[in-house]
Amino acid sequence: MSRIVSGPEAIAEGVERLGAGKPVAFPTETVYGLGADAFNSHAVGAVFTLKGRPSTNPLIVHVSGTKMARRVVETWSEQADAIARAHWPGPITIVLNKHQSIPGIVCAGGKTVAVRCPSHPIALALIDAFDKPIVGPSANPSGRISPTCPVHVAGGFPDTDLIIIDGGACHAGIESTVVDLTNSTPRILRRGLLGREALANTLGGVEVEIADHTPTNEPARSPGVIGAHYQPRTPCQLVNSEQTAGCIDTQIALIAWSIPEHRGGGHLFGLDEHAGAYAAGLYHAMHRADACSASMIWIETPPIDAANTPADRAIFEAVLERLARATQSG
Ligand code: AMP
Ligand code: MG
Repeated sequence: MSRIVSGPEAIAEGVERLGAGKPVAFPTETVYGLGADAFNSHAVGAVFTLKGRPSTNPLIVHVSGTKMARRVVETWSEQADAIARAHWPGPITIVLNKHQSIPGIVCAGGKTVAVRCPSHPIALALIDAFDKPIVGPSANPSGRISPTCPVHVAGGFPDTDLIIIDGGACHAGIESTVVDLTNSTPRILRRGLLGREALANTLGGVEVEIADHTPTNEPARSPGVIGAHYQPRTPCQLVNSEQTAGCIDTQIALIAWSIPEHRGGGHLFGLDEHAGAYAAGLYHAMHRADACSASMIWIETPPIDAANTPADRAIFEAVLERLARATQSG
């Protein structure tokens, strides 16, 4: 049985379990992570098995600051330092060449490692108390909706010997931006709350690319960003605001930002129209819609054209990247 735990004893129990090679679910500001000792390949292997995650999809290593980050990479670059100084702790993951001491399984056999310092105080306390970096993929069965509160994690792993450290609802609500710094031009592999403009500014105005994930015959640079993901069990599709307003089918669960009142009939899960708040509420709404008895979920396309700053636009682009995969069949 998984167990939700809280308070200072929860951190101590988490540290003890991590030391024993057992997974520990912990809160971050983005989503809940499934933690394990990044230097223990057996413990990391157990996380892959538990999630049903393909071994080709590498994990993010979570650290409590730049000092610990230097232990997991070969060389901590100036660009990495600039990003960390400006945005850590926070929702940006940096990909660099890995340190030899990081087991290959963490990096799916590749030469690079993804590293992030989360800002949630419980995540930082756990990593600091453990005094070692921990891997932390999202704490959901692979391909499913990411968890933004402890009950989502418990729902995904009901029969697992797992503790879930309670840190409340994640305030950012979608996963970190992943930026690859191993080439001459920094490249965003996964969009997130921090967009291209913000990163380019941080790096003194350099060009920042956004990776094109159109499938090719080449091995994927970041395999976790392609294919169906973030998926409710209930079939799910994107609809426009007109369809949303006209929806009276009681079999449809509607996730919408433009309808303030319940229209009667089916299930309505409201979202904020502002980018940050929309992102923070999205997975929660998807979990709730999936748990109600509807036979289909409609998600109103987010109001990206109303975003009036590059930062808000970047958040909606990150949201759309996820919704495209949540609504993809197969
Ligand atoms: P999550 O399961 O939400 O933690 O996803 C982690 C994301 O980071 C996935 O999209 C991975 O493919 C990506 N990732 C992790 N490590 C690396 C790496 N070394 N190089 C490129 N992408 C990575
Ligand atoms: Mg994930």
